[in-house]
Order: sequence, then structure tokens, then C-alpha cells
Amino acid sequence: MPIANTIKDHIEHSSWIRKMFEEGASLRAQFGDENVFDFTLGNPTMEPPAQLNEELKKIADNPIPGMHRYMNNAGYEETRAAVAEVIAEHCKQPVTADHIVMTCGAGAALNVVLKTLLNPGDEVIILIPYFVEYNFYIDNQNGIPVEVLTKEDFQPDLEAIESAINSRTRAIIINSPNNPTGVIYPESTLQALGALLNRKEQEFGTTIVAISDEPYARISFGDEVPCIFNAVANSIIVTSHSKDLALPGDRIGYLAANPAMENVDQFMQGTIFCNRVLGFVNAPALMQRLVTNLQRVSVDVAEYRHKRDLLYNKLIELGFEMVKPGGGFYLFPKVPIADEMEFIRIAQKYRILLVPGSGFGAPGYFRIAYCVEDAMIERSLPLWEELAREIGL
Ligand code: PLP
Repeated sequence: MPIANTIKDHIEHSSWIRKMFEEGASLRAQFGDENVFDFTLGNPTMEPPAQLNEELKKIADNPIPGMHRYMNNAGYEETRAAVAEVIAEHCKQPVTADHIVMTCGAGAALNVVLKTLLNPGDEVIILIPYFVEYNFYIDNQNGIPVEVLTKEDFQPDLEAIESAINSRTRAIIINSPNNPTGVIYPESTLQALGALLNRKEQEFGTTIVAISDEPYARISFGDEVPCIFNAVANSIIVTSHSKDLALPGDRIGYLAANPAMENVDQFMQGTIFCNRVLGFVNAPALMQRLVTNLQRVSVDVAEYRHKRDLLYNKLIELGFEMVKPGGGFYLFPKVPIADEMEFIRIAQKYRILLVPGSGFGAPGYFRIAYCVEDAMIERSLPLWEELAREIGL
């Protein structure tokens, strides 16, 4: 049965995901779960906060007639109002339920936003290193991804972004705290980006939207994660509770439009329509009810900071080089030898599974997802030592 050439091509280009998965399964079968150090997936092992089970019990004990029916494609008014209240407070902007659409995670929110914005052939800037799905999502919605390098510290390079903008540029996706680097973009950077986009909009007579992908916004180790709405008028937040409530399998997130955006009402109508016709129809009813009263609740960020410190301190001591992450749950060190894939293979000898930087458009680096048990990180430390010794660090 022939499949589309584009899909065949995409599968080949993301084959490392399948390879890592198969490698992990085979090592686990050989050595047992305890002895395989799988740092490949951003799939938190942390359980959701206790309040989540309490909310779940309340919902089960007080079923509302019709609670499993279809609803307005944007989602429940009550849920959107709860989401809007917290964003309005953080951003100090008049965000209301009308600016929110509940979605099946940030992935769906990104697809909905891109479908709403893009005419065929419109360009979307993404910053290297990037979350690998961006390319596929942009392609899904008939756009063209334009990859722009970040600076040595993984902060946006505004000059490089400026050079990449042309009359076809419709949007830029930013992601802070970042997957895979963990860096947070400061307010001054967002302000400078806002000024640049403004200038380019005037130059080309176009609208360029900043899409801020923020599933890690509540996992910050101290630095404030500034609100994009205060820096870029034409801006949208897309996010989810996959990471901050540790609910990736339950597919619940949302998009929020800046009330100051041009034609915001029309944009919202577009997103509600796209949520419907992309086949999501609406975000899961039960999950919307569940997260309504959890908008001020998050996983324990101190636990992630502890995991970061365990690994970061050890790897720096061993001679690895990397930018210290300010949030999220990833490290993105430099590969210390010339051949990236050779390094990944040597790490596998020590049963340490890592993702090569080329998976994020950044060869020469590797990603560690440290959203795993502390005990696993601790058990892995002597093996990191052996690995460092073998490669001559
Ligand atoms: N954006 C980034 C940067 C991510 O890391 C992820 C998931 O890992 C997503 C979006 C998608 O998240 P969701 O599970 O909410 O679809």
C-alpha cells in the first residue's frame, strides 16, 4: 500500500526517534529496567500533584448531566475563564475567556494557530535548536519552515532573524523555557523582538505573529518567564498541562490570543473553526473540568531543579560544556568528540541513551531529558564518569 511521499520522507527524517526507542527496548530486555539510563524522552516520570486526584474524585462524585457531550468547539466557558484569569494576572492584560481556546495539548494548539494564520507558501521562522515537530506542524498547514540559528548561549539572534524576514514571513515560533536547551528568554529580548517585528511589518506592509510555545513556562528555577503579550502586540501563547501538571497522555492545553492583536475577534473565530475541522473538535471534556480549578497548581519545580543540579554539576565536573538551563527539564551539552553519532553509540555502551543534537537541527550537541527518577540519575553518575574517561575528558 503506497503512502504519500512526504510522509515517507518525514518518517525517514525522524527515524532516530524510532531507533532510540528500539535501542532502549533491546537494552532493557538485556540488562533490566534498573540498568538502562534512558534520557531520551520528555515524558515526565513525576506523578501529577495530589490536588489533581482530589479534583478527579470531586468530578466523579458529582456528575453533571451532559458532562460528556459535545460543547462549544472553543471549550467550556468556565474553564476558559479560569485560564484567562491567571494569564490576565501574569501578563497584566485584559485577557478573557473569549481569547482562549482549549486544545488537545500544545501540539494541537500549534496546528490550530498555524492553520488559522497560514496561506500556502507562507514562511514561519523557527529557531535552531528547535522542538522537532515544528517542521512537521508547519508542513501540515502548508507553510514553509525557515530555520534561523540562535547565538552561542542559545538566545535569539535578532540580526539573523532580521535577515530571514521577508514579505512572505507570517510568523515566528519561540519557545521559552526551551526544549532542548532549557534557556529562558529575558524581557529585554522579547521587547527587542517586538520592535524588530514591528519594523518589518511596516517595511513589508504585512503582519508577523509571534507564537510563543510555553509548555515549560511554570518550570522555571528562578528567572521570571516574561509574558510575550507585553512585548509583541500580534502574539499568541500556546501551551499545555503536559509538563506543569504532568499530564502528557491526557492531551489538555490551550491557546491564548493577545487582546491587543489586530483583528483578534476574527482570529479567535478562525481558531475555533480550525480546532473543529482539524478533527480535534474540542479538548477532552473531562480534562477541561479537571484543570479548571488547577490553574494555580503545578508540579514541584524544586524536584526538577534538584535533578538538573545532580546532572549538571556532575557533567561540568567531568568536563562537559553546556549552558546552564534556567527551566524546563533538559540539558543540551556539546558533544565532546568530533563525531556526534559515535558519541551517542559510545554512551549506549554504558547504557546511557541520549538524543543527538541533529534531531533538533543542531549537530554537535546532545539532549538529556532529566524528567526521570532521582535514583536513576544517581545510578547513572558512575557510568557518566566511565564514559568521560573513555572519550578522554
Ligand atoms: N512544544 C514543546 C517545546 C514541547 O517540548 C512539547 C512536548 O514535548 C510540545 C510543544 C507538545 O506538547 P503537548 O504534549 O502539549 O502537545
